[in-house]
Order: sequence, then structure tokens, then C-alpha cells
Amino acid sequence: MLRRLRDVMVQDVDTQTRLDRIVAQIGTTMVADVCSIYLRRGDGSLELFATEGLVRDAVHRTRLKAGEGLVGLVAEGVEPISLADAPKHHRFSYRPETGEDPFQSFLGVPVLRSGRVVGVLVVQNRYARIYDDDEIEALQLIATVLAEIVSVEDLTGALFEFQIKPTTPETLKGRAYSRGLASGKALLHDPDVEPTRYLSDDPIAEELKLDSALQTLRLGLAALLAGDVQTLGGTSYEVLETFHLLSQDRSWERRLRDGVKNGLTAEASVEQVRSEHRARMSNAKDGYIRDRLHDLEELDNRLLRHLSGNSADRNEIFEESILVARDIGPAELLEYGRGKIKAILLEEGSPSSHAAIVAKAMGVPMIGQLPNLLSRVESGDTIIVDGNEGQAYLRPDPMVATALKLRFDEQSAEQRLFTATKDAPSQTLDGQSIQLFINAGLAIDLEQIETTGAHGVGLYRTEFQFMIADSLPRLDAQTALYTEALDLAKGHPVTFRTLDLGGDKVAAYMPTEREENPSMGWRALRMGLDRPGLSRYQLRALVRAAEGRLLRIMFPLVAVVDEFYRARELLEKELAWARSNGRQGPSVVKVGAMIEAPAMAWDTATLAKEADFLSIGTNDLMQFFFAADRGTAKVADRYDILSRPALTFLQHIRDAAGDTPISICGEHAGRPLEAMAMIGLGYRSLSMPASGIGPVKRMLMSLNGEAFAKHLKQLLQKGDENIRQTLKKYAKTNNVILE
Ligand code: PEP
Ligand code: MG
Repeated sequence: MLRRLRDVMVQDVDTQTRLDRIVAQIGTTMVADVCSIYLRRGDGSLELFATEGLVRDAVHRTRLKAGEGLVGLVAEGVEPISLADAPKHHRFSYRPETGEDPFQSFLGVPVLRSGRVVGVLVVQNRYARIYDDDEIEALQLIATVLAEIVSVEDLTGALFEFQIKPTTPETLKGRAYSRGLASGKALLHDPDVEPTRYLSDDPIAEELKLDSALQTLRLGLAALLAGDVQTLGGTSYEVLETFHLLSQDRSWERRLRDGVKNGLTAEASVEQVRSEHRARMSNAKDGYIRDRLHDLEELDNRLLRHLSGNSADRNEIFEESILVARDIGPAELLEYGRGKIKAILLEEGSPSSHAAIVAKAMGVPMIGQLPNLLSRVESGDTIIVDGNEGQAYLRPDPMVATALKLRFDEQSAEQRLFTATKDAPSQTLDGQSIQLFINAGLAIDLEQIETTGAHGVGLYRTEFQFMIADSLPRLDAQTALYTEALDLAKGHPVTFRTLDLGGDKVAAYMPTEREENPSMGWRALRMGLDRPGLSRYQLRALVRAAEGRLLRIMFPLVAVVDEFYRARELLEKELAWARSNGRQGPSVVKVGAMIEAPAMAWDTATLAKEADFLSIGTNDLMQFFFAADRGTAKVADRYDILSRPALTFLQHIRDAAGDTPISICGEHAGRPLEAMAMIGLGYRSLSMPASGIGPVKRMLMSLNGEAFAKHLKQLLQKGDENIRQTLKKYAKTNNVILE
């Protein structure tokens, strides 16, 4: 059958004739009275494109609305439907123009291309009969080849206007993780590999190819699981374990083998299975099933890459790229570097994940939780990203593009406004001074001190450098980096946070162990104390870099005071070592601790007596406080920092810190409303992504600090349940500028 189809494919005829011949061919081979091809138009309707057995005149006239009839049901369910008595089915839709009534049995399969239903292939018989599994499979196989024919014809610009690839404008609404506007072309993080050939000349050779690819895939996964090889970006052990298990799945393998045995190339057979998984995934309501289909699809992708031999290939990076991914780890994102990536769109993702932090550090907008993003974007599509509203405009029409251009201009005007206020004193209307700092992670971020008028760097995430390096940065490299950071800061203070690796921040070259809860696992200072060699190395580099200048160091995730003592001891040893080696050492050393574990919050007063300063990492503190993982989309922003439990907790910490300087350095500090609340609680120092400085400064310059603090105090005592709303209202009535 496939051989005959191939003959039809190479004939030099127009598309319509080709389709007519195909349906005739299928009808004969499957001993069916009817064979029809329905193709999907841009509006989701299914149009009869060719038929053998139905009234010819109905071709291009019969159009079924999305979801209409049995054909619509096949498209909707993305699964074959086989019925011995079709007219009895409640979804049967009668179309007199097709002359359909005498046909009893019905078999319809979806025509899938890259996981999208592009049509439905149907056979019908006059008398009631049951189509067996072999027939269903054969028709699915033909549908795979048909999808290819149709898309090739489409590319050569034949008579079709229907959608193989999405071409119409679409607007997707997600959640804004990093603000800003950008436009560019879609760059798929994990681009699909498309088969180059569909029909095989030699099924035995294809099966051998498939065998070898399966073996390579399984061995590769086993090696990853055994820890012999490291993955970049930290594909978790559980995910690898699932892939490994699924790769042993017999029914998956059988489906692949059947395709090859029946005349598809190995690649086409994988593509067929992948398309089914993907199409079913975008339909699945159940989260568990979606996840499994997602895993299967990922496995199909890996296999297809092995088959096409370009496992390491990244696709072309455009000058102005909008990176599109299901999800992405911070290390992978850093790998792309700054410059060409103008924005990031994710189907999943979460707002205080480290990838979002990296995006903010890179100064690029990021939107997450965009539904079915991957199946709606093709590589190279034009996209406009509005990171302020959380909207992504795919293939926008020129009018929308112009309107958005206006917004871009407004943004630049706003930016200019921020630039104008950058030198104004950072104080509230009633004269309370508030220090604003930026969070940084790469030397290049330091330019932002000047552009924003910030006081300095309140949080320098030193681990970023470790995450982008191929091997552990040596002492000289670390010293050079910290020196550069201090130089670029031009006398403004820089608070270096010591290594916070672990959790989702992995360095490709550092061995990792499987953990149930990595963010509560062996990370940050815990790792630092257990690996004093690594810590002292870093502290030595910092001490060297700060010779003759102020050195501010803080330790992450201090859970009990003792950890702080031990960490400080390591630093003191390094300072002593520098002195004994005749080095000048820093002019002043200030040692701080981050409050990120609730336990530490309840012993803040003790810590405050020991530390020179404190800083609250609200990203971590809130995830532990609410027991809601910051990296899991479904729970990451489920609870509100502007709620009574969180605010009273933060009030307690503020009070317990007494006169010891204390700042807030989580992402919340960069949002005007949240920053307003922090000021109301008595915090006088905030460190945030550089993009937050302008809006936060504008907010505080329009705020009467004392009056608001009183209001907030009362609010926390009252039973007000929606503090966020009440605060918004307060801002509005009192002309505090939030937007
Ligand atoms: C935090 O947890 O709030 C913090 C600032 O540290 P990081 O986001 O790097 O974990
Ligand atoms: Mg943290």
C-alpha cells in the first residue's frame, strides 16, 4: 500500500488529482466503499478535500464545524474511532449532499503533523463491519504519510490555505515573571527534529537503525542515571528514571517497530508516535496523564535526535530571539548569554524560580504558564512580548504591532522618567530615607548601579559564575571577577553572597546526589560548611579582590546561629591567612547572614547581636514559610506575601533585628506594592532586580511613610482578609504611584 502511495506521490500531477488518486488507492486496498480526506482550515472546521465513494460534488462544499459529527469527534479526541453502526452514534451528523446515509460502518483516524491535527482520514463501508486492529493501524500509517504529502504540497504553495503550521495571529496570556517589552523571532529551546524521509526502501535496514537508536538512547539514560555523565541544567533524577523506565516500555517499542515493518522510515515511525503523544497531550485534562504523555514525547524527541544524528544541535539563533521553551533551568538560560535573547516565553515555569531571576538579571522580559505554547509557535515566528501584562502576541497583525510599538515608545518615555528621578534623594514624602540596591549576578549587571541610581549591590549571587563555567573557576578567575565587580561598582558597596549552589542551581561539573527535596537539601551554606575547601577558596578570592576596600560578605540559608559562627570562622581564617602572608587585606569587613529559613527568623535577635547586617531572602523564606515550592508553577504564587501571616512574620523579624541593619533582597522587594508594605513594616533597605528600582523609587517618593505605617499596623490588627486589595486602595486614595 505504501509503495503504491509513493508512486502517487512522485507523479507529476496537481495536488487535487494526487489526493483523488490517494483516496481511490486507499479505498481499493482496504476494500472500503468510501475513503475521504478532510483537512482542517484555519477556523478549525474540517473540509472534505477528496473522496472516493461519496458524492463528488460535496468536495470543498462539505465543511464540518470544529467538533461536528464523527469526523469532528476524531479530530477532537485525537484518536481513531471505529464503529460498526455509525448512524446510531449520537455524534453522527447527517449531510445529505454527501449521499452518506447508506454507509453503516465508519473508521476515522486523525492526520497529525507535529502534534497538530491537520485532518481526518475516513473509510466507510455499506454494511456493518468491524475494522480490526491491523486495519486501524494501517490507516494510521497512511495518515502519517498523508500528513507529509499535504504539508509538502502546502509548502510549495499549492491550492491550500488551511493550516499545517499556525499562521494566524494569536495572543497568549500567561504570568509575567520579568517585566519589559520586546519583539523578535521565535527560537525554540528544544527544536523539533523533523524526519527527512517518510517511506523506506529497505524495512530491514530501517529496523536495524531503530534498534541501534533505541540502544543508544537506553544506554545514554542508564549512564546519566548512574551518574557517569552530568546533564546541564539538572534534569532531575526522577525525570531520568521515568524516561529510563518508559524507554523499556514494550508497547511503545512495538508501535515504533510496526511502523517500520509497514514501510515507514525509522524517523517517520517515531514522528508518527510523537505526533500522537503530543496531540493527546494538548487534549488531556488530567494532570498525571499530561505529565506521562509529556515524558513520552520527550523520549520520542530524544530518539528522533539519535536517529537524525544531531543530538547536540541547537537551532539558529536570530539577532533578536525570543526564546520559547516548556521550562528552562537557570544554567541553560545563562548559556545562551545576554544580547541576542530579547525575551523568554515558557509553557510552564514559576515566578521566583532561578530562571526568572536570571531573566531579570539579564534584563529581559519573561512570561510563564502560557497554555499550549509549544504547539502554537514555529521556529522563526514573529513574536511581541509584553512582560508587563504577561501577554505574548504570536505572528501579530500589523495593526497590533503598531499599537504595541506605541507602548514600546511609552515605555522608553517611562524609562526616561526613571532616569530623571535616578538622582533624586531616595526618600518618602515625609523624609524617611530608603536605600535601594540592585541584585546582581554577572559583572555586566553592575552597570545598572549607575543607570538606575541605586546605592550599590545588595545581593551579588556569586554562584552564577560557577553555573556558566565548564569547570570550577580557579582562584585567579574568581579573584578577577570579584575585583571587576568592585571596580565597576565605583565605590558603591557590593554585598557578595557566598556560593548558593544546590537546589535548582547546579554547576554541570559538580557531582550531585539524588534528593527528594533539593531546595531543602544539601545546598547553600550547608554545602559550604561541609566543603570548607571550596568555601575558603571563594573567601580567599573575595579577600584578595577587596584589598584596601570595603568587603561585605553574607552567607545564604543560615538556619541556626551556629552555622553563622562556623562560616564566619572560615572567613576569619582567610583574613588571618592574608595578613600572615603580608597582604594588606580589606579596609573594613562586614559579615552578614541571610534569613531564609523560618527557624532563623525565630532566633533573629541572637543572630542580630553577632552579625554586622542581615538580609531576608523572601524567595526562599516564603517558600518554606508557606510550604510551597517556589519552582512549582501550581503553588509558587498561590500564597501571598501581602497576607497577615507573612506580614506579621516579617514584622516580627524586623523588630527582633533591633538596630542591626536589615534588608529585604527577594524578588518581592522590586514590586512597588510589596515594597510599600515592607517600608510600612519598618524596612529601610531593599535590594531588587535593577528593573524594579525606577518603579519602587517612584512609589516611595509619593508615599507618606509614617501615615502608611500606622495604617498598616491597624490593618494587621483588624480582621481584614484581603490586605493586597486594601493596600492597593490605600495607594490609590493617597496618590501613591504604583504603576
Ligand atoms: C531569596 O531566596 O530570596 C534570595 C534572594 O536568594 P535566591 O533567590 O538566590 O535563592
Ligand atoms: Mg535564597
